[in-house]
Amino acid sequence: MTKYQIKPWLRRYEDMAEIHREADVVVCGYGGAGASAALEARRAGAEVMVLERASGGGGATAMSSCEMYLGGSGGTALQQALGIEDSTENMIAYLEECFGTNGDPAKIRAYAEGAAAHFDWVESLGVPYKREAIYERVVEPFGDESLLFTGNERAYPFDRLAEPVPRGHVPSREGNQGGMIFMQILMRRVEEEGVEVQADARVVAIVQDQADRVRGVVAKIDGEERFIKARRGVILTAGGFVMNRAMIEQHCAQVIPYAEPYGSPWDMGDGIQMGLAAGANVMNMSEVFLSLAVYPPAKLTFGLLINARGQRFVNEDAYLARLAHYAVQQESQEVYLLVQNEDYEMSHYMDPLHIAGTGDTIEEVEREAGLPEGSLQQTVAYYNGFAAKGEDPLFHKAPTWIKPIDKPPYALVSYAPRDVKYPLGEAPGYLMFTLGGLQTLPSGEVLTPQGDPIPGLYAAGRTTAGLPRTSKGYASGMSVGDATFFGRLAGRQAAGNN
Ligand SMILES: Cc1cc2nc3c(=O)[nH]c(=O)nc-3n(C[C@H](O)[C@H](O)[C@H](O)COP(=O)(O)OP(=O)(O)OC[C@H]3O[C@@H](n4cnc5c(N)ncnc54)[C@H](O)[C@@H]3O)c2cc1C
Repeated sequence: MTKYQIKPWLRRYEDMAEIHREADVVVCGYGGAGASAALEARRAGAEVMVLERASGGGGATAMSSCEMYLGGSGGTALQQALGIEDSTENMIAYLEECFGTNGDPAKIRAYAEGAAAHFDWVESLGVPYKREAIYERVVEPFGDESLLFTGNERAYPFDRLAEPVPRGHVPSREGNQGGMIFMQILMRRVEEEGVEVQADARVVAIVQDQADRVRGVVAKIDGEERFIKARRGVILTAGGFVMNRAMIEQHCAQVIPYAEPYGSPWDMGDGIQMGLAAGANVMNMSEVFLSLAVYPPAKLTFGLLINARGQRFVNEDAYLARLAHYAVQQESQEVYLLVQNEDYEMSHYMDPLHIAGTGDTIEEVEREAGLPEGSLQQTVAYYNGFAAKGEDPLFHKAPTWIKPIDKPPYALVSYAPRDVKYPLGEAPGYLMFTLGGLQTLPSGEVLTPQGDPIPGLYAAGRTTAGLPRTSKGYASGMSVGDATFFGRLAGRQAAGNN
């Protein structure tokens, strides 16, 4: 039994009494995917109308740092200016490992082949990028640099499968305003080039005719439901469903005890609901992005992440989404960072929930934290034995981050989303957004469960199962990169559908 309704999201074209407005292409949602789709559809010669539920555009894209994961084709203009080469095949090898069996090979290839040109497109809009990189282990630049490593490129197993290359492209501005800068510039272009934007217009239903062709949408404007007819196509770009509790319960209930929604308030899954109502398939619905942001500061990477058995479970130099992916698989999501005094500093993004144990010996820490006798001592003794040689035979942490844990005092810091100090469900969880949605072709065409395109229906961004498919292999920049890149393809495809 579905816990949310499908039928109200669908209306019959034959029942529409009055056409309120008409355009070639109607875009539902004015975030990164929607604005990119609208601009490209317009540039392909279509008359375009955008409907946005909020009082202005931007969505989660404007809240973001606007890191975009770009490279390949010999390197983006920014990579090349810094002497960094990046081949398309190298980028594909990396992305394939990121998403494993969940990945969509056609989207991975299309993205890797087009990402460098996508950077040119973004820059041509007027988005500022500085020809400077930061090579430290960071999540976003501290200053106004525009290029960084944003994922697992330098960590096992990725470092063995692909040449590590920095691919995080961020608008240059101190203070993490990338998404706002990007969306303001993009929306100005959209509107200057003749796209009509209607804010405060919640799209509430898709309109299909008897032959199942999508003919427009119903939007609530000034308190009234109005039919907006689309001559060529409707593009669903209404974000993900992380704010829709009923959908989370139905599709990814496993995250409820340990994850906190991260996104725009209108990430309510409306686009997915409308796609479903029109006969679309959904996929990857149980997958979410999660974040265990123990770093920066990078030196915390010298510590050991352990579970309630005193055992390690991941190479600590992995990206924050991969750390979270493995952390939530530990029993009761109980995870700690063992760190020696010289490496301890407050994490920039996460407050430690409590210090589970301290001591001048590992034995003392273990006892104070109530870990099984000898467990942490064995873990540290084993780790230290190889650390002296710069090796980590269990998890292959890179030598840069390996040193013996032998300088007391030590602390065991809890980052558990189900921390024992909090009543169940009340500890701050790991930030999450959804990675499942409508099944689409790279062109944005929405598919039925049988694999047939639904005539006149397109989608992009978090409304779809796009490029990023798992937290295990996510890297910063994969969502805005995906939304804007495939948004553009959907816009062009819809405009060409006469
Ligand atoms: C704080 C933060 C930082 C992030 N940083 C990054 C980053 O640096 N890099 C990265 O890749 N990812 C990042 N992400 C994730 C990324 O921002 C989003 O996943 C991505 O921007 C989604 O783009 P979108 O176009 O699909 O959705 P959005 O940008 O959210 O756009 C969807 C739009 O649809 C509208 N809408 C919803 N329902 C309706 C309806 N029924 N009718 C009309 N309009 C509707 C919404 O109001 C919204 O404006 C971050 C996320 C957050 C929350």
